[in-house]
Amino acid sequence: MKPLDAQGYVAGVRGGDRAILARAITLIESERPAHAVLAQEVLDTLLPHTGGAYRVGISGVPGAGKSTFIDALGAMVTVGGHRVAVLAVDPTSSISGGSILGDKTRMSTLSIDPNAFIRPSPTSGTLGGVTRKTRESILLCEAAGFDVVLVETVGVGQSETIVAGMVDFFLVLLIAGAGDELQGIKRGILEVADMLAINKADGDNRPRATRAQASYTSALRLMRGSSVPPVVTCSALEKTGLEELWALVVESRGDLEASGEFQRKRQAQQVGWMWDMVEDGLRRALRSDPDLSALITQLEDAVGQARTTPSSAARQVLRRFADRANHALKPD
Ligand code: GDP
Repeated sequence: MKPLDAQGYVAGVRGGDRAILARAITLIESERPAHAVLAQEVLDTLLPHTGGAYRVGISGVPGAGKSTFIDALGAMVTVGGHRVAVLAVDPTSSISGGSILGDKTRMSTLSIDPNAFIRPSPTSGTLGGVTRKTRESILLCEAAGFDVVLVETVGVGQSETIVAGMVDFFLVLLIAGAGDELQGIKRGILEVADMLAINKADGDNRPRATRAQASYTSALRLMRGSSVPPVVTCSALEKTGLEELWALVVESRGDLEASGEFQRKRQAQQVGWMWDMVEDGLRRALRSDPDLSALITQLEDAVGQARTTPSSAARQVLRRFADRANHALKPD
């Protein structure tokens, strides 16, 4: 494979070349310093061409039907004339070294659709690193002309909140369970959801799905008062309820744009992203400086044994950090 310079990446991505888009994502995922410089140049050049997609997060526990759903919904949306990219944030992939989410083999229709692009979750790095890579991948997909970006995640750890912070619309896929519907569902996810979809509303399961819809609606009403997001039912397998669901997603975008909320949310996300990067960089700088890292270890002990207070310890770390800032702040 011929190595590409920045111009080669930019031209390929802008031309909608999926193979070059995939290579550009690999470039931004790379941890090598030389790649980071090239990646930054590519991203900076492409920046004016980003922001054009509708960014939709899709979360759900394993087995909820995410890949079946994304395959069916994505295909429906491409038939409607859109170009769809599927990205994934999988907090478990950096631990296990393997990634299931966004796997092409799970999405058999979309994987052969010329208007779709599927990218599994990055399998290396911290969750912070995975987050940066996914955010930058969204930008690359937009520059390549994908106007719908679906970001898939499992409901593990902080991943939902992280994905909710990088998309315009956050959809939670659920299945009707036996008994108490809300068991095992994290409160946090209901707070960030823009829509709940009870999947597998087909066959014998339909009445249970309808009951779950009612339970979730009342739970949301208690929790969120007047701003209750829609709760719908669908069957990804039978492809029912998907058109109605997508119509609500599109309608929500129209409303948000009309009220100015859409731009406000994106601006707040950009600022949030900047702070994530600053905090990530500071943490790394603190840990990578041997002098500071030794001090931190000592202070952790002291705080643990109540020999000093956390705030006094924090002040000492920050003071030492300020003294060494120029030395410690290294680029990625
Ligand atoms: P994921 O782990 O969330 O990606 O879930 P999958 O899409 O792999 O689906 C898990 C299982 O549920 C598979 O056996 C699917 O065929 C099945 N499934 C997905 N959606 C539906 C649905 O709408 N109805 C029914 N009956 N089964 C479904």
